[in-house]
Amino acid sequence: MSDTLPAPDVPAIPEADIVRVDPEANTDAGPHDVSMETMVELCKRRGIIFQSSEIYGGLRGAWDYGPLGVALKENVKAAWKRSMIQLRDDIVPIDASILMHPRVWEASGHVDVFTDPLVECRNCNQRFRADHLETDDDGSLICPNCGSHDFSAPRAFNLMFRTFVGPTEDTASQVWLRPETAQAMFVDFALVQLTSRQKVPFGIAQVGRSFRNEITPRNFIFRVREFEQMEMEFFVRPGTDDQWHGYWIAQRWNWYRDLGIRRENLRIRDHAKDELSHYSKGTVDVEYRFPFAWSELEGIANRTDFDLSRHSEFSGRDLSYFDAERDERYLPYVVEPAAGVDRATLAFLCDAYREEEAVSAKGKTERRVVLKLSHPLAPVKVAVLPLSRNEKLVPTAREVSAMLKPHWVSQYDDAGSIGKRYRRQDEVGTPFCVTVDFETVEADRAVTVRDRDTMQQERVGIDRLVSYLDDRLQLG
Ligand code: ATP
Repeated sequence: MSDTLPAPDVPAIPEADIVRVDPEANTDAGPHDVSMETMVELCKRRGIIFQSSEIYGGLRGAWDYGPLGVALKENVKAAWKRSMIQLRDDIVPIDASILMHPRVWEASGHVDVFTDPLVECRNCNQRFRADHLETDDDGSLICPNCGSHDFSAPRAFNLMFRTFVGPTEDTASQVWLRPETAQAMFVDFALVQLTSRQKVPFGIAQVGRSFRNEITPRNFIFRVREFEQMEMEFFVRPGTDDQWHGYWIAQRWNWYRDLGIRRENLRIRDHAKDELSHYSKGTVDVEYRFPFAWSELEGIANRTDFDLSRHSEFSGRDLSYFDAERDERYLPYVVEPAAGVDRATLAFLCDAYREEEAVSAKGKTERRVVLKLSHPLAPVKVAVLPLSRNEKLVPTAREVSAMLKPHWVSQYDDAGSIGKRYRRQDEVGTPFCVTVDFETVEADRAVTVRDRDTMQQERVGIDRLVSYLDDRLQLG
């Protein structure tokens, strides 16, 4: 980060309680509140996320989001768009096509260098990404499948999926499934700038699918072959890029913290010089302490003018910007926060998971699993639970449910004991449960509202319920 005074078009760096570590910081996760096995099992059991095409044995590196998973993932994306676009005047969205002109990927460098080192174990014939393998004392690779040290020489394996447009499968009709969303923001830069009448500094943001033919997909939705990204390219005047880089690091750190990630589980790791991508002048990773290791959630890179200059060169279009206030023309530099929707979702799930002792309605101590998701992320905000299926209770419970539906995603659940229903809602992170009982219909037209985290119960009049929940949901 630059220590010179900020130029006038650069904001102060937001306050943030950042933990910053060296490139070679230890990646050992240590003990976690949840193991990956438990998280995968919970997600499957509750229909949050499960293996794609499971009845056919599944497809490696592909996962499906079920009803609650869709809601959770939508909330992650909505929180990102709110912070990056809605609350600002200087960032505009696009939704670009996944298939792009093949020259895009030549200009970006992906055709030549978007590769991982592929090695094959000569003993069991399994293939691995060489830089993900353990080595022994003398540096030779160890096969995680059979323990052999006998590997083929590494070869550069391109991660882009290839396909063809139209009926002929030849090189002229070859296209790629985009491996990142970023390139559309560069290719569309001039048009978006002109039509949205934005002035540098400004950003273009996009949320969408990307595809990478990962050699070894692993760790549930952490490394998959089809995923979603939330990327934003922020175009700035050269010379202000370092300050903007610092700004976006703090801003993105605060986003994770505001949505509940605990400080001890988050850190900013600087990239070493030899780790930098071909386009980058400086990159940091936002890392999360996943149960398996500290790993990347998001990269925040200073991409310089690499992309705009390459696309100018390859397309023959001048992508420079005329800064009327300064009366100068330049190729903007770009600061890019690039996050993964699936990795962020996994981090929010892991961070929210707790196993606690709780006292049941009958005074018994029981174990409860609770997802303490922040309120904006919780897939279901409120559950309506009639004490029983008694016909006296049902009309009022249905009435309360219908009253809440226009405001929040809610669930009506009348199956099983009330204690079981509380546990079911705790397990998927529903912040509030509303119980309709005989007193509600016979005496006070009030319901019992139970708070997920404190398990405190409060009696609230039905006519006041929406504003009561609204106040509390805004808080978390
Ligand atoms: P890694 O080093 O883990 O392969 P990367 O540095 O190549 O990731 P970027 O190109 O910076 O990743 O992509 C930005 C973000 O997109 C990542 O921080 C991550 O959240 C997400 N992402 C990238 N590859 C995958 C993948 N295979 N599965 C899920 N998310 C991914």
